[in-house]
Amino acid sequence: MAQKTGSINVTSENIFPVIKKFLYSDHEIFLRELVSNAVDATQKLKTLARAGEFSGDVSDLKVRVSVDPEAGTLTVSDSGIGMTAEEIDKYINQIAFSGATEFLDKYKKDGASIIGHFGLGFYSAFMVSKKVEIRSKSYKDEPATMWSCEGNPDYIMEECDKAERGTDIILYLDDENKANMSMKYTIEGLLKKYCKYLPVPVVFGKKTEWKDGKEVDTDEDNQINETSPLWTKQPADLKDEDYLKFYHELYPMAPDPLFWIHLNVDYPFNLTGVLYFPKIENNEFRKDRIQLFCNQVFVTDQVEGVVPEFMMLLHGVIDSPDIPLNVSRSYLQSDQNVKKISGYITKKVADRLNEIFNEDRKKYEEKWDDLKIFIQYGMLSDEKFYDKAINFALVKNTEGFYYTAEEYRKLVEGNQTDKDGQLIYLYATDKVAQFSYIEEAKKKGYDVMECGGQLDTPWMNQQEQKQEKCHYNRIDSDTLSNLIRKADAKKVTLSEAERREGNALFSSQIPACTGTDGKKVEWSIDFQAMEENDKPVMVSQNEWMRRMKEMNHLQGGGMSFYGQMPDQYNLIVNTEAPTVKKVMEAAQAGVKDQVAGIVAEISDKEAQIKPLEEEKYKAKAGEFSQDKDQLLDELRKDVELLKAQERDIVSKYAANDNTLRQLIDLALLEGGMLKGEALAKFIARSQSLL
Ligand code: ADP
Repeated sequence: MAQKTGSINVTSENIFPVIKKFLYSDHEIFLRELVSNAVDATQKLKTLARAGEFSGDVSDLKVRVSVDPEAGTLTVSDSGIGMTAEEIDKYINQIAFSGATEFLDKYKKDGASIIGHFGLGFYSAFMVSKKVEIRSKSYKDEPATMWSCEGNPDYIMEECDKAERGTDIILYLDDENKANMSMKYTIEGLLKKYCKYLPVPVVFGKKTEWKDGKEVDTDEDNQINETSPLWTKQPADLKDEDYLKFYHELYPMAPDPLFWIHLNVDYPFNLTGVLYFPKIENNEFRKDRIQLFCNQVFVTDQVEGVVPEFMMLLHGVIDSPDIPLNVSRSYLQSDQNVKKISGYITKKVADRLNEIFNEDRKKYEEKWDDLKIFIQYGMLSDEKFYDKAINFALVKNTEGFYYTAEEYRKLVEGNQTDKDGQLIYLYATDKVAQFSYIEEAKKKGYDVMECGGQLDTPWMNQQEQKQEKCHYNRIDSDTLSNLIRKADAKKVTLSEAERREGNALFSSQIPACTGTDGKKVEWSIDFQAMEENDKPVMVSQNEWMRRMKEMNHLQGGGMSFYGQMPDQYNLIVNTEAPTVKKVMEAAQAGVKDQVAGIVAEISDKEAQIKPLEEEKYKAKAGEFSQDKDQLLDELRKDVELLKAQERDIVSKYAANDNTLRQLIDLALLEGGMLKGEALAKFIARSQSLL
């Protein structure tokens, strides 16, 4: 054939600046494209051989990649079907796309999708080259052809003297890429990233060894890839060891996974893969662990949008020719196929978990503590998954037994339904710290769940919405009789003054405590008429407030309203407990002489305030005289002052009442809140009492 020159047939403007410019950020994919083409050409030849259309030996076909740093070239060679001059003309020169201009406009900023859309794989070579040469000899009996192009629309084609069947693609690296892309390590790195599981052996030079202090080549090919990776095999042919081995190949540093799921479908789309549930250590999640392949070619490990959000916590590989190879993230997310795939994976994972749960519940329970976070995350973020998972999501109680939601409901509903028909689930977040509360509940025949996990709080919120008439209460959030109210609470019989003095008595003696956020805790005193032999004093933390703070923390807040609030605790004082009665009566007697006058004055002034307040409330604008308003103000101030005096007197008395202080400290100790100096003082006081 005589030399032929011509212009590459692109209907739009010159394609090369587009390739160079827009693909810059992703320019390493050229190697994936060229090696994939070489693999395809090899596979095609094997197909022809199987069909009897080619009679040569196809048993040992390899793709070879080599670099020549001095010449600044990189070559990808195969022994595949090759191309005739006519085919080069057809496949390489005639990139006549319909609607190309429109498409280029639309995806200007997104080079990858241009390449993917047009199947411009070969042309990605120009991202790193100033000149590209094809030397190809077809399996058909035709002369070999050389094609070359210098990154502009003009090419040269002529016959050449290549004797072996197949294709060499020779890149003359441009100045920008010469140094880097002719480096052995760069290329080996890229091959390992993109070509590790291609179905035809990909060889990069020879294996090396150290001889006389030098690294020298051996005779053995340095094969980059594993040609039949685990996911391409039949599950029936695989053992647990195989799955584990593959896992560690993918993630060398990770501990053994909990479970795996082998995906294998060909309808309604093609999808294979293996997904692993990793063991999470140190609460560390990584969302880029699933690797996406397209016919064994690595595409990406950024799988957002392809797999459901919660499954991004899983590890493994997904391989599907139906996932568009070269497109952008946003394109992937809106692709209908991808959406279906995502839904399918969710279903498959849920079904498999259900299967494992039914087949071997014991094994499933053993792994539950680690598995829980995935299931809860899935339930919280995906309704469809929730509907399936509710059957195999477990709750664990403080005795270490596991139940499904349904089983657990049945277990506790008899005893833990309150007088209003509300089912109360009791839970602990820390079995050790909340030990005595748990014991107390057990004495009453209640069961306590263990819910200290990262997602337990939002999960409980969700359960309260999904299940009818149920509520989750942490075991230390109130007294048991308040948490599960079986009857109306008994009335506290304290007079106004007794309540005030009682309040001063207890609140003045609570040592300073810091909450979970390091801020000073705020206290309120809550008098309750419990049973005589119930605990005299106990500490509780408001369930709702605590959960709000936790949710806020989970969502990374801190500056928001709830994040700013200090921890709020109650000191519950059982007015029926004999020790409390004794302490309060002794205090009343102890301060009686000093406060009698003040108490009388307070009630006298309050008696004056009340009618004035009523009058002011009912009065229309301007009707309540200024004099009266002033009087009301003064009376209120007086009362405040008197109350402060009264509080002072009670506090002074209280400071010397060791029984009272002991009662408070014991409650704090039980709640895990007695620390540092307060603890030391408590110990010293206890010793002196002995
Ligand atoms: P795609 O591979 O997406 O079709 P490319 O631009 O990468 O797009 O390649 C265009 C065509 O050129 C291929 O479909 C194939 O027919 C041919 N081709 C490319 N590389 C080779 C090769 N190494 N051996 C044989 N044919 C090749």
